[in-house]
Amino acid sequence: MSTLPACPQCTLENTYPDGDNFVCADCGFEWPAVAAASDEEADAVVRDANGNILNDGDAVVLIKDLKVKGSSITLKQGSKVKSIRLVSGGDHEVDCKLDAGQFMLKACFLKKV
Ligand SMILES: [Zn+2]
Repeated sequence: MSTLPACPQCTLENTYPDGDNFVCADCGFEWPAVAAASDEEADAVVRDANGNILNDGDAVVLIKDLKVKGSSITLKQGSKVKSIRLVSGGDHEVDCKLDAGQFMLKACFLKKV
């Protein structure tokens, strides 16, 4: 059972889903079930393993051991990164400076501290 939202125009709750939209049976108002803007935001926002939004300069820790491709280096779980830099594009969103060097990591392996 999902709760349908009340109509944003007339505030009555006689609404129903119609494809990607909700429709109000009383006043005929239609509005998107998923706001178009949220898609754009989801692309721009980088979230850590817990779903917290990461920003440039945030401190994070690794939540698992990460083997660095093409090297014998393993970044240890619990390693701290004092200040991250977010990079847009590509599947590795976070530029991290660690004792072992500078690496591009996936945000899903990081946790904000
Ligand atoms: Zn309405």
